[in-house]
Amino acid sequence: MNSIATLGSHCSLQVLKGAKEEGFNTVLVTKSSREKFYRRYDFIDEYIIVEDFQEIMNDDIKDKLLETDSILIPHGTLISEVGIEKIEKLDVPIFGNRHILRWEADRNLKTQLMQKSGVSIPKTFNSPEEIDCLTISKLSGARGGSGYFLAKNSEDYYSYVEKFKKQGLMTDDDELQIQEYIIGVPVYFQYFYSPLKNELELFGIDKRYETNVDGLGRIPSTDQNEIKLSPTYIVVGNLPLVLRESLLVEVYDIGENFVTASQELVPPGMPGPFCMEGVYDSNGKFIAFEFSARIVAGTNIFTTGSPYSYLTHGANMSMGRRIALEIKTGIKNQTLDKLLT
Ligand code: ATP
Repeated sequence: MNSIATLGSHCSLQVLKGAKEEGFNTVLVTKSSREKFYRRYDFIDEYIIVEDFQEIMNDDIKDKLLETDSILIPHGTLISEVGIEKIEKLDVPIFGNRHILRWEADRNLKTQLMQKSGVSIPKTFNSPEEIDCLTISKLSGARGGSGYFLAKNSEDYYSYVEKFKKQGLMTDDDELQIQEYIIGVPVYFQYFYSPLKNELELFGIDKRYETNVDGLGRIPSTDQNEIKLSPTYIVVGNLPLVLRESLLVEVYDIGENFVTASQELVPPGMPGPFCMEGVYDSNGKFIAFEFSARIVAGTNIFTTGSPYSYLTHGANMSMGRRIALEIKTGIKNQTLDKLLT
């Protein structure tokens, strides 16, 4: 029997709980500083203790994963702490398409894939001099929304760049993407694509609770002006959301088009969980600013299932469990090769 393994962070509890529910042996690679915390959970069978997640590249850790016949479930911490280049070389089976993670991390590739899928995306500006509306500037790489700033013209832009350099938040080598700021409400669609059933499932919807931007509305505008507050976007948690039912038709179309585009540009495409992230603007139009090509932490809200996973699977189907179910089906039907890279 295979084991399901993941790094101790992000959504590991949900992933391993789901794996256990589907009958797998579970393996957690954890930093020693968090070992005591994770030992509180009886659904984790085996622990691989490290000081740094980079150690996953070492032969002894890799051998332990191979000995337990582990399939590694990638998540945001694997990307941020191990890095795309190493993940591509890691000699352990990974669930999903490890090559698409590069498309998530690189802003140009990301834009290319989103354009190919046909989803509406914000206008981007090639130089600060072109700015003619409220914009958000983003440093490259997933940094949890830190180091972003809003600018409505080039003077604003340059004053932020200077400030951020002084604060050590950016260097001369950093590249910024300048994007139209979409005024509206941010929404995150969580999907699961099953290559075995050739079917897309809408798994859940959430919104993020970001500091300090979600706290600014608690401060009167006169005080905001006086202390010259600027927003930051550091995620501290997620909140569940259900959409107006009439919007769901388009949500499925967006997900299916994304799967087709990814199959064409980055074979084998998008097996497993992914997330489309965007804003409904003042006309109710969805404009996507980002995707995640793997499980997102927002799925942690739905450890016992979401209103949408309930419609497809009945009770108690988390994203972690759905991943394990797909792997189980792949083992049974000898089609596991469609799920791993
Ligand atoms: P993560 O990797 O954690 O998703 P990130 O660094 O890639 O974070 P984004 O998800 O791109 O950051 O953006 C962080 C936040 O900034 C979003 O949740 C949203 O609130 C806001 N945001 C980003 N782009 C736009 C946009 N074009 N218009 C309006 N708000 C935006």
